[in-house]
Amino acid sequence: MPRHLLSMADLDATAIRTILDTATQMHDVQKREVKKIPTLRGRTIINLFFEDSTRTRSSFEIAGKWMSADTINITGKGSSASKGESLRDTVRTIDAMGVDALVIRHGASGACHQVAGWVDAHVINAGDGTHEHPTQALLDAYTMERRLGSLEGKHVAIVGDLTHSRVVRSNLISLRRLGADVTLVAPPTLMPSGIQTWAERDGFALSHDLDGVLQGGGSGRPIDALMMLRVQKERMSGGYFPTPREYTVGYGLTRDRLARLTDQNPEIVICHPGPMNRGLEISADAADAAQSLVLDQVSAGVAVRMSVLYHLLAGEESATNVGATNEGSAA
Ligand code: ASP
Repeated sequence: MPRHLLSMADLDATAIRTILDTATQMHDVQKREVKKIPTLRGRTIINLFFEDSTRTRSSFEIAGKWMSADTINITGKGSSASKGESLRDTVRTIDAMGVDALVIRHGASGACHQVAGWVDAHVINAGDGTHEHPTQALLDAYTMERRLGSLEGKHVAIVGDLTHSRVVRSNLISLRRLGADVTLVAPPTLMPSGIQTWAERDGFALSHDLDGVLQGGGSGRPIDALMMLRVQKERMSGGYFPTPREYTVGYGLTRDRLARLTDQNPEIVICHPGPMNRGLEISADAADAAQSLVLDQVSAGVAVRMSVLYHLLAGEESATNVGATNEGSAA
């Protein structure tokens, strides 16, 4: 296991499999009345978030708490960063207190890589700019596998605002490593530059035609999973599409598209990393459909983050503590 989790590229297929397998055990903790295992007793985890978050921050906090770590949340607005302190000074200050892990979300792509060079603590990337969001990709893989079985040979279409999405970058790496076929779908204005070269190198397909892909276009095969991405208005400086209505007509998972899709394949699964723009990239019907895994993804987020914290912080020594309760087990 690597010392830090900065990118999905840090994890080979074996490491991904190990994290997903441990997440299955961690998921059981969620069903217990007493949600507490001693695995990370005595460890301190700081969640340092310079961008807003509901799911990621709270699930990292819950994950740490359920494993008996001391977890502390610091937001950019509530830290000395708002007084002009540099990121380097902020993280070195926190590190000097002797913390074990820093979970960081930052608006700048590459910020977590820089932090990892400045601190002794383990660093976990909880989203850096438009670069990566590795724990999101892990929880997506975990959620899809629970419904579809192995992702080897499955066809996943990822649709929407690819240019601004760190989720798609991490998912491309993990899905390909798990053996899935991937087709990316977006209007030409939301296809990141250089994606063609990446697609040729890593063997995934690109399309501007959502309906064609939903009917089995793209890599030429019917899709098993559809991942809708949020239109990230906060990262858009210009007009990437004429109007929201036109975006929805071309690239939204509308009620009509959902009906066609589920007629073709009732077993298809629909994912969205959240937060959703209902009515823009995904209709309420699709978000709440039986095929939607949106809340399963949230639930898996805690288990997967427990697994990541466990593998980075506790390592082999405490393996016997996984799944143990507080009573009668050593830390
Ligand atoms: N929650 C994800 C992220 O932080 C996706 C999104 O915000 O659209 O990147």
